[in-house]
Amino acid sequence: MIRTVLGDVDPAVLGTVDYHEHLFQVSPLLPGDELDDESASGAEARMLRRSGFRTMIDATPFGLGRDPSALARISSATGLGIVATAGRHREAHYAAGHPTRDATVSELATSFTAEIVDGQPHSDAEPTGPRALGPDGEPVRAGILKGGIDYWRISPFERITLDALAAAHATTGAAIMVHLEFCTAAHEVLDVLGSQGVSADRIVLAHADRDPDAGLHASLAERGAYLGYDGFARPRTRSDAELLSLTAAVVDAGGGERILLGGDVARRTRYIAYGGMPGLAYLGERYLPRLRVVVGDEAVDRMLVTNPARLLDLA
Ligand SMILES: [Zn+2]
Repeated sequence: MIRTVLGDVDPAVLGTVDYHEHLFQVSPLLPGDELDDESASGAEARMLRRSGFRTMIDATPFGLGRDPSALARISSATGLGIVATAGRHREAHYAAGHPTRDATVSELATSFTAEIVDGQPHSDAEPTGPRALGPDGEPVRAGILKGGIDYWRISPFERITLDALAAAHATTGAAIMVHLEFCTAAHEVLDVLGSQGVSADRIVLAHADRDPDAGLHASLAERGAYLGYDGFARPRTRSDAELLSLTAAVVDAGGGERILLGGDVARRTRYIAYGGMPGLAYLGERYLPRLRVVVGDEAVDRMLVTNPARLLDLA
């Protein structure tokens, strides 16, 4: 069973999944790149749907401009399934004095769990306030958990998040996405969560491809962890060609059962509907045809359909 903003879906009919995008996001780390306009984000979601994706994960966690009711309206209007996120990002995203900085493990675990079981708050300014409602009047629930850590560092704030995620996972069965900086401390995150009973095969390491080291990735996949590849269309850091080679090498090493694909376009200046480029459709229209040539249709369909369905299943 996979929990979307419009209700639960059978994994068998989930279809193609973009494992990492943001329809709404506002962070002090990204000034001028706010995603906060429902009609523009809805238009971009429609482009993603037309590019061949059936479902996306909206990877924006607590306190960063989320709007669960708008996600549900966009899903209903576009036919794009959306899985919403409970959790808390890495510490740098929260300004000094942000109320979430005082939260304890048990308070966070309670709120993460409530977002999956009962529904997300209408406003993150009132985490225990009224639940967000979808167009049918039903509460909008999250379907995945998320945390984040810094470059080779798990701060006390981030450790509290990880501990709370492990507790919410134990209650709900939801998978955990962890934002990594350049894929650093990946094994260490699996160790921390593993010590609290979270199996590596319930974890996806976001932005793993920021360190395109096939040997490292094979070792993470061997532990069962999912690898989130989402760095396409960023030639200033590395070219798509390098990511195609990385993917082929990891598939050859036996990691094809663990790769997930997403765009993580994430910035207003990179959304067509906000006046930027290359947009959410880049992954489906420009990158995937090339990946299909390199690793074949079967491997790509596994990354788009089979792997995300297995990860997102709340069972
Ligand atoms: Zn992201």
